Amino acid sequence: MQSNNQSRRILILGGGTAGWMTAMIMARHWQKQEVSITLLESSDIGIIGVGEGSTPALKQFFDMMDIREQEWMPACNATYKVGITFSQWSVKPGFESYFHPFKFRLDEQFSQAFFHSALMRRQGIEMPAHPNQFFLAPLLAEKHLAPLPHYNFPFEPAYGYHFDSALLGRFLKEKAQELGVRHKEGKVNQVIRSDSGHILSLLTEQGEQIDAELFVDCSGFAGVLMQKSLKVPFVGFESNLFNDAAVAIPSPPDSHLPSQTLSTAMKHGWRWQIPLTNRNGNGYVYSSKYCSADEAETELRSALGLLNQDVPARHLKMKVGRLEKHWHKNCLAIGLSQGFIEPLEATALFLVQQAAALFVDAYEKGQFTEQNQDAYNASISGYFEGIRDYIVGHYITSSRTDSPYWLDCQNNQQNLSDTLRHILDVWHSGGNLAEELRREHISRYYSPVSWHCLLAGTGTFPDPDKLRPPSPTDKQVNIRKIQEFLYRCSLNFDPQHQYLQQRNAEQMP
Ligand SMILES: Cc1cc2nc3c(=O)[nH]c(=O)nc-3n(C[C@H](O)[C@H](O)[C@H](O)COP(=O)(O)OP(=O)(O)OC[C@H]3O[C@@H](n4cnc5c(N)ncnc54)[C@H](O)[C@@H]3O)c2cc1C
Repeated sequence: MQSNNQSRRILILGGGTAGWMTAMIMARHWQKQEVSITLLESSDIGIIGVGEGSTPALKQFFDMMDIREQEWMPACNATYKVGITFSQWSVKPGFESYFHPFKFRLDEQFSQAFFHSALMRRQGIEMPAHPNQFFLAPLLAEKHLAPLPHYNFPFEPAYGYHFDSALLGRFLKEKAQELGVRHKEGKVNQVIRSDSGHILSLLTEQGEQIDAELFVDCSGFAGVLMQKSLKVPFVGFESNLFNDAAVAIPSPPDSHLPSQTLSTAMKHGWRWQIPLTNRNGNGYVYSSKYCSADEAETELRSALGLLNQDVPARHLKMKVGRLEKHWHKNCLAIGLSQGFIEPLEATALFLVQQAAALFVDAYEKGQFTEQNQDAYNASISGYFEGIRDYIVGHYITSSRTDSPYWLDCQNNQQNLSDTLRHILDVWHSGGNLAEELRREHISRYYSPVSWHCLLAGTGTFPDPDKLRPPSPTDKQVNIRKIQEFLYRCSLNFDPQHQYLQQRNAEQMP
């Protein structure tokens, strides 16, 4: 923030993960300038307190803040995550389960082989094209290994985390305050605006008036500033994504800590299993149009073997979609207040980070000009839509037929975006998907590896009886050699429970 501009006082409304992360990103960036950041929250309302998985972007956040894993991970009961297993999304033989990896540097050499094999199979030639055969991460996940290699392993790892979101919130709060962010308690019940519609100040139930030049709405699903006060319209994704509710139930931890999230398809949605050091987080994300909260809870309890046990369940409703504008007048929305896509790929915190970091950049360049705001809004909406399309891809390619929910998901072709339709057309017509994703600038949201894992992993190929064996002129991939190499690579990693134990012991005074 430039020293001669007016926006010296920033007020962030909301102390969930979005509020504190935004506060830290802004405080870090503008710490040498005279910018005062205050975060106002209401402990009566509290935070949503779910959201336990991340992408590798969270590592970048902690690196940027100079906070070491040794410090924050034990404080948040965190574990490493190398990717996600999608189980039972497809019923096609050989494709009942696949892994979506965070891409290691090492994977670059085999992704071309994977793309080639998948392309041949799409063109009707019998080739091994299951993603798990080509990447290291599924092997690490299968063996419960932490993604930190021995010192002589020459490839850089990529990983995300699992964590207790309430503990993460507390940790970030402390760190943000160390960076100079002021904390206030109070419930906002009135927003004062100027004739031009800009926000001037917030009034709390306790009678305090807080003025600022820039307001950041991190008030969660309540959407206090952008939706309720500034009346920025909400673009719902419900015609594409049916799930609007979730039920969460914890279970005891596994002794050999997994290093992956497990996403298992259920009758009316899917359930997550997220391993923390002290418990497993479990939740069933479903559509309330097809199943009641009681039915969902019973289905989840039954899957977890907790049918008659007195473990409390938490029920949540979700508003899926995004704001039409994320930055409007002198207000910015970040986190659940700006939009939400179901947590299938755990992208919410990534979006928080992107929204805050891109705002800082955009603001530095053009401040409050309309053109600058429009460019920012288009860019953030692009992220929401790019992620939405990838998530919708999971439903449209599922081959489950065991409930009206799954049939409706697959038959929902008419509501697909043009971009997703185009991706599926290229895939089915045997075109070069990687090139197409780059040409259309879609690979910034999900990479060619991710799209190939999804489409190949669910077995989106011609029927096996229509495949022909490769001819001598067809270039073939030596899958045995790749797997042997990956297996040898996996010997450079330790079991996650052992790695964490050793690291924590080294920390002891
Ligand atoms: C079922 C489910 C699963 C999820 N899983 C994941 C996941 O695996 N990975 C991931 O990255 N994300 C996930 N998310 C999203 C994640 O939980 C959120 O993005 C994250 O917690 C940030 O929330 P937030 O800070 O925007 O909102 P909240 O945590 O709800 O915080 C809102 C804040 O605003 C304050 N507030 C509201 N109204 C007022 C008022 N009038 N006055 C004062 N203060 C007020 C509240 O007190 C609170 O401090 C999931 C979400 C759901 C629903």
